[in-house]
Amino acid sequence: MTPDPYDPTVDYYANAVFSERGRCWRMVHDGEGSGRPTFCEEPVEWVGNHNLVGGRQIRVWSCDGHRAGVEQPEHVGHR
Ligand SMILES: [Zn+2]
Repeated sequence: MTPDPYDPTVDYYANAVFSERGRCWRMVHDGEGSGRPTFCEEPVEWVGNHNLVGGRQIRVWSCDGHRAGVEQPEHVGHR
């Protein structure tokens, strides 16, 4: 197994990603063992780009644990 460089405890759901301002782009399995994906509800820390298969690029927001895969991440400003 290859250790995740950021946070090995944060799981994410396959390749389901989405682009929505202010919301983490990853989906995770819920914590109750049902195996169903749910939205990651961690606070957003990063904004950057993600390259989709086929070369398309989307803007994504990410919590700290899901930063892997975000290109050129910038820290989201906190008020
Ligand atoms: Zn997340």
